[in-house]
Amino acid sequence: MTAQPSMRPDSFVAKEQAENRTTAPHILPIYATSSFAFENLDECIKVFQNPTTAHTYSRYGNPTTDTVARKIAELEAFGSGIEAYGVMTSSGMSAIAALLLGLLRNGDQILTQGNLYGGTTELLADILQPLGVGVHFVHLRDLEQVEQALRTYPRIRMVYAETPANPTLACIDLEAIARLAHQYDAWLAVDNTFATPLLQQPLAYGADFVVHSATKFLNGHGNSIAGVVVGRDAALTRQRVWRAVKLIGANCSPFEAWLAHNGLKTLALRMERHCTNAMALAQYLEQHPAVARVNYPGLPSHPDAELARRQMRGGFGAMLSFELNDGFEAALQCVNRLKFCSLAPTLGDVDTLVLHPASSSHLNIPRELRLQNGITDGLVRVSVGIENPADIIADFEQALQW
Ligand SMILES: *Cc1c(COP(=O)(O)O)cnc(C)c1O
Repeated sequence: MTAQPSMRPDSFVAKEQAENRTTAPHILPIYATSSFAFENLDECIKVFQNPTTAHTYSRYGNPTTDTVARKIAELEAFGSGIEAYGVMTSSGMSAIAALLLGLLRNGDQILTQGNLYGGTTELLADILQPLGVGVHFVHLRDLEQVEQALRTYPRIRMVYAETPANPTLACIDLEAIARLAHQYDAWLAVDNTFATPLLQQPLAYGADFVVHSATKFLNGHGNSIAGVVVGRDAALTRQRVWRAVKLIGANCSPFEAWLAHNGLKTLALRMERHCTNAMALAQYLEQHPAVARVNYPGLPSHPDAELARRQMRGGFGAMLSFELNDGFEAALQCVNRLKFCSLAPTLGDVDTLVLHPASSSHLNIPRELRLQNGITDGLVRVSVGIENPADIIADFEQALQW
């Protein structure tokens, strides 16, 4: 038999090399490794007894992924004095699924709103409900409805909110909802994808958990799919939610986490520009004769403008929608004529993205049902990018000329 060259674990070789020179990386390294080697069995036993102290296997945790989770948790808690814990996941949907499956048991119930992200509504109806988790939909804006539901159904363990929400950017009073939820022994979980922690910090208003699709603004460049759960209770977040992520296998890949991390570095700059661009476009569209209505929480005409001013800071986000006077045909014509903006079923990118919900994301939802949630035939949704605002407005100007 031919002798094989010595194949010691890479990390030990790297450690020996590091002793001789400075190798502290300036940029977060991508730990592309499935597992982590131990010096000896004693260390192995110690780590398995307390897995949050070290890394063992990348489905359980990975230095790249954990660094990004911690950074997002710190952003969500910044300035509030709260200690928060984060767990990265493979997508926004798996963050929501891990949160719900980690915390809820058969017979437990959820109180939520009808205008959730579509995937979340499907997850509740098609996965959670058949597993025995009850779901109640109310207008979370209506605190009397909320309290009545909490009083009537003592098995409600979680209130799940999204604010601002698709497609009309309706807002929910997080402080009031958190108070009610806690009064009835329920958690408040908030999908903070649209606002980001820069503009809105649900934990500071009393929320127990925050989820994000990191695919959107946190990354900002549209080049990865990732999610995160942030919680203020160490045991619930690191044991219940983390365990669900670990056992479902919903862990985030270190590369996707790294891409999100790259985006985080410019989050503050991007959100500032997103907000001023969205406000400029909202104001332009509001005075356009072809436009019936503009939904943007930064406009005084928005029904939740006052709440948004109180609850958000530094701006009102990048998302807006508007309704054309001439319905379906006019919306199609406008979207088809846009040249500078892209037609794409995502949001939160540096580029301006438009979507016509009635003919795409909500195509398979009965017309009556989508109308109930404000998704009219002539509604166009815009995720306003960070380009020169004059270019964005000029594109809409030429698209709305008929
Ligand atoms: C996109 C999105 C999700 C789902 O996130 P993925 O990363 O696509 O799984 C959840 N909530 C909101 C508000 C979203 O916009």
